[in-house]
Amino acid sequence: MDHFDYVDGAMQVEQVPMAAIADAVGTPVYVYSTATLTRHVGVFRDALGSLDNPLIAFAVKANPNAAVLATLAKLGLGADVVSGGELLRAIAAGIPADRIVFSGVGKTAEEMRLALDHGIFQFNLESEPEAEMLSEVALSMGKRAPVAYRINPDVDAGTHAKISTGKSENKFGIPYDRALESYAAARDLPGLDVQGVAVHIGSQLTDLAPLEAAFTKVGALVAALREAGHDIRTADLGGGLGVPYDPALPVPPSPAAYGEMVCRVTQGWPVRLMFEPGRVIVGNAGALLSRVVRVKQGAQAPFVIVDAAMNDLLRPSLYDAWHDIRAVTPVGQRAAANVVGPVCETGDTFAMGRDMDVVAAGDLVAFMTAGAYGATMAGTYNSRPLTPEVLVSGDKWAVVRARPPIEALIAGDSIPDWLAD
Ligand SMILES: *Cc1c(COP(=O)(O)O)cnc(C)c1O
Repeated sequence: MDHFDYVDGAMQVEQVPMAAIADAVGTPVYVYSTATLTRHVGVFRDALGSLDNPLIAFAVKANPNAAVLATLAKLGLGADVVSGGELLRAIAAGIPADRIVFSGVGKTAEEMRLALDHGIFQFNLESEPEAEMLSEVALSMGKRAPVAYRINPDVDAGTHAKISTGKSENKFGIPYDRALESYAAARDLPGLDVQGVAVHIGSQLTDLAPLEAAFTKVGALVAALREAGHDIRTADLGGGLGVPYDPALPVPPSPAAYGEMVCRVTQGWPVRLMFEPGRVIVGNAGALLSRVVRVKQGAQAPFVIVDAAMNDLLRPSLYDAWHDIRAVTPVGQRAAANVVGPVCETGDTFAMGRDMDVVAAGDLVAFMTAGAYGATMAGTYNSRPLTPEVLVSGDKWAVVRARPPIEALIAGDSIPDWLAD
């Protein structure tokens, strides 16, 4: 559920007309709803209500905007970070270090030092060489790093290949079959405090079965490790729960159904459970607002050329992702159209032959469910300034990331001496 609704024929986000934001900030612009963020945190937390003090660490990469993170921090969420930059952003937004988990296959010694300095809750290690490096870094600082190994359970998440992470051929985690040996080696590293097991098999999962298969393997490993004398106190079940994008497809399992499965599978595990939801918290809380530049005739259907492009919202060209595209002020007619951006790539296509509201030059359209992996993946290809972001709360709204002037983009480069004058 979200808070983008039509009132008197025009789309509002909470109590703010989308058109008012477009007029004041220009387009394209990302718009986020505080009420939707709050609701999703509540729904997710309620779904895990019967667990004892779970750590819910928001996957920062889904939406690292400071105002979004500060909203989630106020709601008590922690953070799952995958870089030193995300760690500093999470801390700057008010997320306490003891609620931060550091994931990712390529943590550098510098990033490890930064995280140890801040005293984060857990490092999720993804290989034995990484464990050795972290131990050395921690020892050099006179510390012991709290760690889990991310295991690769070799289950097929049934999602798009580019967002599957739990198959043996993927780069993530240590092989499940070798886990006991990897843990035994980690125990001998004096800079590590081995406290947990972690898993994350992919994103936009629309079936609970692969998650259940992965969690069952985690449970078996927790038991085997404790049997082998490891003091395992945490199990991090990752993120990955899907959200509805295409209303024509079956709705993904609800957080309640996910929570029911988690509580059933993990019953009696002697650990604190951790979760790393990203998309399910922010996905439906955001829309990308764009204006139609012009409509051009096409072979089969007209091309609706909008002022947002693949540099603003990469998911359709990267993952063949589907976003609902709605007129902000629908005229009541629908027809097939191709929705494209102005970037000089055929991949800069949001939809082909889409049955949608009829729109004309100057109209506003909203790309729905764009709060996750939207602005965070934006770039400046075709020398397009980064997309601005707005946060709405009730009848209030604020620009939480301004559109940089093109001059700032140009000034970022410099011309070497030998080319000057
Ligand atoms: C991306 C990621 C997540 C979040 O995934 P969602 O599908 O957005 O819930 C969680 N954990 C790790 C390790 C990730 O890389």
